[in-house]
Amino acid sequence: MGTCYLAWATDEKIRRRAANGGFVTAALVAALENGLLDAVVVVKKEDVYEGIPTVTSAPEVVVESAGSLHAVPVNLTKFVVEFYKDEKNKGKKIGLPVKPCDARGIIEQAKRQQLDINDIYLVGLNCGGTLHPLNLREAAAEVYGIDPDAVVKEEIKAGKLFLTLQSGEERECKIEELEKKGYGRRDSCKMCITKIPTMADLACGNWGVLKGEEATFVEVLTGKGEALLKNALENGYIKVKEASEKSLEVRERIKNAMVKLAEEWWEKLDAVKELTRDERLKFYVETLRLCINCGACRTVCPVCACDDAAKCVSMHDERDDYVISMYNVIRLLHLMDSCIGCGQCEDVCPVDIPLTFIHRRFAERMQRKLNYMPGMNVSEKPPFYEAELQWHDIL
Ligand SMILES: Cc1cc2nc3c(=O)[nH]c(=O)nc-3n(C[C@H](O)[C@H](O)[C@H](O)COP(=O)(O)OP(=O)(O)OC[C@H]3O[C@@H](n4cnc5c(N)ncnc54)[C@H](O)[C@@H]3O)c2cc1C
Repeated sequence: MGTCYLAWATDEKIRRRAANGGFVTAALVAALENGLLDAVVVVKKEDVYEGIPTVTSAPEVVVESAGSLHAVPVNLTKFVVEFYKDEKNKGKKIGLPVKPCDARGIIEQAKRQQLDINDIYLVGLNCGGTLHPLNLREAAAEVYGIDPDAVVKEEIKAGKLFLTLQSGEERECKIEELEKKGYGRRDSCKMCITKIPTMADLACGNWGVLKGEEATFVEVLTGKGEALLKNALENGYIKVKEASEKSLEVRERIKNAMVKLAEEWWEKLDAVKELTRDERLKFYVETLRLCINCGACRTVCPVCACDDAAKCVSMHDERDDYVISMYNVIRLLHLMDSCIGCGQCEDVCPVDIPLTFIHRRFAERMQRKLNYMPGMNVSEKPPFYEAELQWHDIL
């Protein structure tokens, strides 16, 4: 474990806009203003349901983007890959706030030599999960009984989702209740066991911030993380104090409870575990035959780096007798060792194939078998390493 602090921005405007103590915004602004970074990627808020990844060197844009958008499940990896494809950006130092799945995608792309990880400062954000914006709109109407367009703010606190209306009125509902009704977090997030981004340079969150404290809990994980914190501190952008034993203990306890919940979700969402092998095969064929070979899942996939050289091209034509196209079969095999379970593929699938579940069903078992989690630090033991599985369990 890295050194842990409670940190907060000295600028009151940043603290007011920020999700917690404003450490993330203050550290990024300090890095831009003192030459540690050339640019920063932030998610610019359009409204509660939409945020736009934006690359900027303007500190004021970073400040405007403070705060957490829980219903913006964009993965930033491909955005960063595209940024570095432009010759004029080669060698630029950038920093960005990353959920664990963003960090894992970026590390996987660095392994595929699409990025130089030494140029990228990953400011990790703990993540209990994201919501799909359309699902949140529906929940606002059906569960909260309000007009989705009247929601001006959303916030997650102590296991509840709060929605604030234009009038200032605040409504709340437990996330557990929302999920019982079919709303709440995306399936990929429910199943995700990577809640603290220990593969990033810093891991920031509110777990471990005790009642009455207005701060961001920060774990420093690498030299780059230390440089960001030191630069902000020495130039007066933040204040810090070391995290107490109590803070550390609370953070660990919440994280463990969230991981346990994710494992329970995985059990619940495993749609095929009670089926025989033939029935399982039938399930895969029947869901995947809906595929229209549009390729959207490949385009958004943060770990896919094949571009035009991809082997998983559509092979569906008049002469193709297969009930499911080779496109999906190749993707399943290709992603078995590298799927990070981010759910981007399912979000964009126009025919609603449960791709998160199907890919996890294959990849999770393979990764267990290999004792390997993609996008993690090499030194880190996957949490599931003790599991014993037979190859035939994979299907
Ligand atoms: C979807 C989500 C879920 C989270 N869940 C938890 C949790 O369960 N437990 C916990 O301890 N912490 C969680 N966090 C982290 C927490 O909300 C704060 O981001 C963190 O404590 C840093 O606070 P801050 O005041 O220093 O950040 P700020 O100074 O407010 O900066 C936050 C930065 O995050 C960026 N950002 C906002 N939304 C997104 C997004 N959807 N994707 C990528 N970047 C984004 C903004 O551009 C901004 O630069 C979550 C964050 C997100 C985005």
